[in-house]
Amino acid sequence: MERYETQAVVIGGGATGAGTLRDLSLRGIKSILIEKDDIASGTTGRNHGLLHSGARYAVKDLESARECISENRILKKIARHCIEDTGGLFVTLPEDDPVYHNELLEGCKISDINAREISIKEALRLEPNLNHNILSAIWVPDGTIDPFRLAASNILDAKEHGAGILTHTMVTGLELKSGGNIVRAADEKGNQIEIRCDLVINAAGVWGQHVCSLGGIELKMFPSKGSMLIIDYRINNIVVNRCRKPSDGDIIVPGDTVSLIGTTSREIDYSRIEELRVDDDEIDVLLEDGEKLIPNVSKTRALRAYCGVRPLVAISGETMGRNISRGIVLIDHSERDGAEGLITIAGGKLMTYRLMAEMTADLACSKLGTGGRCRTAKTPLPGSEKKISERKNVRAFTGISQSVVGSTLYRHGLRVQDILKRDKKNYRLICECEMVTEGEAEYAIKKLDVKNIIDLRRRTRIGMGPCQGELCAYRSAGLFADFGIYRPEKSIELLYNFLEERWKGIKPVLWGDGLRESEFTYWIYEGLLGIGEIKFDDDPGDGDGV
Ligand SMILES: Cc1cc2nc3c(=O)[nH]c(=O)nc-3n(C[C@H](O)[C@H](O)[C@H](O)COP(=O)(O)OP(=O)(O)OC[C@H]3O[C@@H](n4cnc5c(N)ncnc54)[C@H](O)[C@@H]3O)c2cc1C
Repeated sequence: MERYETQAVVIGGGATGAGTLRDLSLRGIKSILIEKDDIASGTTGRNHGLLHSGARYAVKDLESARECISENRILKKIARHCIEDTGGLFVTLPEDDPVYHNELLEGCKISDINAREISIKEALRLEPNLNHNILSAIWVPDGTIDPFRLAASNILDAKEHGAGILTHTMVTGLELKSGGNIVRAADEKGNQIEIRCDLVINAAGVWGQHVCSLGGIELKMFPSKGSMLIIDYRINNIVVNRCRKPSDGDIIVPGDTVSLIGTTSREIDYSRIEELRVDDDEIDVLLEDGEKLIPNVSKTRALRAYCGVRPLVAISGETMGRNISRGIVLIDHSERDGAEGLITIAGGKLMTYRLMAEMTADLACSKLGTGGRCRTAKTPLPGSEKKISERKNVRAFTGISQSVVGSTLYRHGLRVQDILKRDKKNYRLICECEMVTEGEAEYAIKKLDVKNIIDLRRRTRIGMGPCQGELCAYRSAGLFADFGIYRPEKSIELLYNFLEERWKGIKPVLWGDGLRESEFTYWIYEGLLGIGEIKFDDDPGDGDGV
């Protein structure tokens, strides 16, 4: 049994937990975060990555709209390397109610969102692939945000300020006592961990209900599933929203090298939150409605489909998917349940993670009886300390291809200095689709809490490009042994699990070029390498563990 003592334990390594860990650490509060899988493996890694301007909420939910625009302005400054300031459009199609256009403009004005009506000609200039039959367009300051980078940067900063993190470790028990709390957890090998702490912060998203139940506390979540479809190629450069009441298939978001059509909203039973299956009819809806915003989208190759579950908390009243508040829910369980040492933070959005963390840390400080002002609105994340100039960095790394420098800079901001070296082994490519080098993989494995290829994908985009891991997967598997993290035998297991994980997202869109590519991957890994026949050891022994 490993035993630790700390002031606060944060449960959940999504954006909310990562942001809370960072905020507490910047205030000097000793904290440990526990995540059952990987950083951003929950809903944080399963959304559109839209940096909301707030316009989507400006008609029905002014509070959310105001929170979004305020955080939008902050994040553009502190998280530069996680954000693309693309701008966004709300477009009205011939079948849409034209009244919504004016309601949206009015709501934006009240919420201080800089929205403006633009001509159809201007909209088509900004986004040439847009449906030419639109009736009107509004420009809004939407953008895109990479949730994986965002969560990992928050964790990195927290660690650099003394925080601890345990990934692939599940909280299995909570003892909430006034003299001090005990959090029990177990890692993937079954090793038991016990942490004594003054405060437990439940940032477990939709799993928050279960975490509360471990401490004998009732919290009701209303899980609402949303599915999304990734299109190969970046077919739009600006976020395109449908100007109508929130509904299925009303947004296309560009992100890195791809575009994404979203989303659906389906209530699911709490017992199904781990199933995460995209249904065929959801794909049909997304392609059909996506086609209305950008014609030919349905003829472009679909790369993969995935879904996430919104962590909506039922406080009272409403019980229907899109109608339950998307607002932030901060619960002090001492008032509600007599559990002095437990706080739950849930609801909200990726967009509002920092604000949620600030609210939680404020409450934590008052419970711990320590001061400490929030610094996260002004302190940039690691890599975003200054404006990032590609030209300057390309000059600094003369001899390394511009696209390698640009991609590394894009993903890690100014931390590029810790990653790239003028040594051929360092900048040799592991993933050609996303220009990931061996040096970047090494940095991620050694510094960013990466324990397998699936985690490596979240930190670097390995396997996220058009080939979906066909060529980079086996190269990545070998790196863990090269860097002395695992024994070589473990590589097979890492490779197998990665291919299985990629397959889940490819399966729902298996037609055309995607089907051909999958056949090719199958020939390589099953036909040539016979991966299905290789037995891997469940306990690879020495050298296993980071
Ligand atoms: C379809 C969809 C689209 C969305 N689009 C957007 C968008 O474009 N922009 C936006 O701002 N927001 C969006 N959202 C909302 C946003 O994704 C979520 O509000 C946000 O990611 C929630 O983050 P979180 O950290 O609270 O939860 P999560 O990311 O789910 O984190 C909770 C973590 O807790 C861990 N955990 C659970 N139980 C345990 C345990 N027992 N022990 C240890 N760890 C545990 C989980 O593994 C998980 O990683 C979208 C949501 C959905 C579903």
